[in-house]
Amino acid sequence: KEVTDLQTIKTTCAYCGVGCGIQATVSPSQRTVEVKGDPEHPSNFGRLCSKGSALAETLDLSSRLLEPQIYGRPASWDDAISMVASKFQQVIDEHGPDAVAFYGSGQLLTEDYYVANKLMKGFIGSGNMDTNSRLCMSSSVSGHKRAFGSDTVPNCYEDYEHTDLIVLVGSNTAWCHPVSFQRIRQAKENNPNLKVVVIDPRKTDSCDIADLHVPVKVGSDVALFNGLLAYLYQENALDQDYIDQHTEGFDQAIQAAQLDAFNVATVAEKCRLAPHVVETFYRWFKETNKTLTLYSQGVNQSSSGSDKVNAIINCHLATGRIGKEGAGPFSLTGQPNAMGGREVGGLATQLAAHMEFSEQDRDIVQRFWQSDNVTDKPGLPAVDLFDAVADGKIKAIWIMATNPVVSLPNADKVKQALQQCEFVVVSDCVAHTDTLDLAHVKLPAAGWSEKDGTVTNSERRISRQRALLPLAGNAKPDWWIITQVARKMGFENAFPYETPVDVFREHARFSGFENSPEQRLRSFNISGLAEITDEQYQSFPPTQWPIVSSDALQDINNFENTKRLFAEGGFFTPTRKAKFVAVEHRAPKNAPDANWPLILNTGRLRDQWHTMTRTGLSARLNQHKPEPFVEITSADAQANGLEQGQLALIESQWGKMLARVTVTDRIAQGEIFVPMHWTDQFSSHSRMGGVVNPVVDPVSFQPESKHTPVRISAF
Ligand code: SF4
Repeated sequence: KEVTDLQTIKTTCAYCGVGCGIQATVSPSQRTVEVKGDPEHPSNFGRLCSKGSALAETLDLSSRLLEPQIYGRPASWDDAISMVASKFQQVIDEHGPDAVAFYGSGQLLTEDYYVANKLMKGFIGSGNMDTNSRLCMSSSVSGHKRAFGSDTVPNCYEDYEHTDLIVLVGSNTAWCHPVSFQRIRQAKENNPNLKVVVIDPRKTDSCDIADLHVPVKVGSDVALFNGLLAYLYQENALDQDYIDQHTEGFDQAIQAAQLDAFNVATVAEKCRLAPHVVETFYRWFKETNKTLTLYSQGVNQSSSGSDKVNAIINCHLATGRIGKEGAGPFSLTGQPNAMGGREVGGLATQLAAHMEFSEQDRDIVQRFWQSDNVTDKPGLPAVDLFDAVADGKIKAIWIMATNPVVSLPNADKVKQALQQCEFVVVSDCVAHTDTLDLAHVKLPAAGWSEKDGTVTNSERRISRQRALLPLAGNAKPDWWIITQVARKMGFENAFPYETPVDVFREHARFSGFENSPEQRLRSFNISGLAEITDEQYQSFPPTQWPIVSSDALQDINNFENTKRLFAEGGFFTPTRKAKFVAVEHRAPKNAPDANWPLILNTGRLRDQWHTMTRTGLSARLNQHKPEPFVEITSADAQANGLEQGQLALIESQWGKMLARVTVTDRIAQGEIFVPMHWTDQFSSHSRMGGVVNPVVDPVSFQPESKHTPVRISAF
């Protein structure tokens, strides 16, 4: 269809979980796009960060995968789809459904995710559909579910402007959620009472606005928040009414907290902190009703990540500070659509639509999808899933929009596993990634600017990602590719979708299936959108869920949604009460020793995203930090014979990498920091994932990416 040139189209940023709205000026014929922040989007009000504002610089076709390929040769879509369907079917026939797997991404749109999850869990009949969200926020999911009975974020960004204390835990918001940080900075300027506490082993740029930096020892957050709970109890600073009316399990939680972290001195010792720093944080928390605790990967990426999340939530439940204006625990999602993936059940440990693998849930899913092949057990979470590929138990895998050869822990093993795997399919929008280069079948997927569907950000806000440009070459949307494979495998009737809105309507209907507003069995419910028309979907404004009434569609712009949840209880547990979870501090699994004396901490940079497949294309973004580096204190540098600017070899029991030495006092002695982004494509021997230990949290199965014992030497 011919499109008139120079259109203004609203869409959503492709990168982080802030989910900023973008206003794009587009010339489809020239294939040019200019972006600026959408002033009407309630998540960013016109702001964009360096990455978002450089999106137009990453749309060049020269790096794109433009045709399907089978064993390195160009192929038609028909042939590629037949090949994927027949090979998966062959493996299933010979070895059963658990011999195949999908590995998806928080970059997928909700519609893509829905179709992939339905095919694997509903029709192939295996739980083996996991995603890189496992590396990002699965500990928050587990923490939410244990406390609230559902994976629900109780608050919204607007709370930044209403709060008097922001506690940032394990979150370099200045670099990883920059527009949220800009909003917090502005809120602080507007409200002289607003204090910011940054809890982070490193002195990051987020400390620029901190009134207090708490340089907690890596992995000791449970002790810090147990100590806070014990302190609030001892100071009579609890909301006893809220505890009595809306919660269960307080006695066990306070007992565990007091045993673990009875007083400030104990906490200071366990967390390697000065007592007055602990005391100040605790006092501010006690004195400030409007407290918002924001947390992300420093909390989640840990062998005690779920317990850390619950230790934080316990303090908010005990003070009744949840789902209230300016007060609540708030998980900042890493990726643009990690939450959309959670909504459809896109983790191996979820079934579908916020349902589990119980007999009752499975029965609901079977009846809705009209399939008697719905899996009755969880699949393998990411680390185990690739171990099963290495062991030959999984013989065919389809990886979508992600690069596990770089991003997973023990990544050399992942690389080897894929090299030996019988059949590897990778769909991606770029022509080369470390993972794509190992694929037997390469499927060209639509990229940002071509994709059309929805994403959900950290504050439960569903936004449209709209197509700005025609599909590049022979690329296709992910939902379309998966649909064609499903049909070829014989599931034509269950996969009738012709457009993304067909998928969205089914997803919305499913969210309300046997989950009426009166029943309130599941937290995620957008059944009010089940009858959304094509036109309404096209113009759908950014809106927070739940959306349970179809009245919303009459005038969605004036729809009064639920910004905050749980201020008056109403949790999704059988008793409708929240659960305190008794937790105790556990040290990270692998301790440093004489051979591996330093702790490797990892994280993101301001101007790069994931494995740089897109941001690495922008010369402007590459200027910020042009090559892999390792931060180290001057004492540790000296002790290891290193100087500023020298190339260093970092080794662990699992692998090694090279990085340029940056001597800094912004990190603690005994710890080093390496950014996560570089791949062998951009700089050889720089894959951080090869070094990271494959330890996972026992509840969430999220890897411990912030704590690996290593050694360092001059290269
Ligand atoms: Fe994009 Fe996140 Fe930056 Fe917003 S803050 S522009 S969503 S990368």
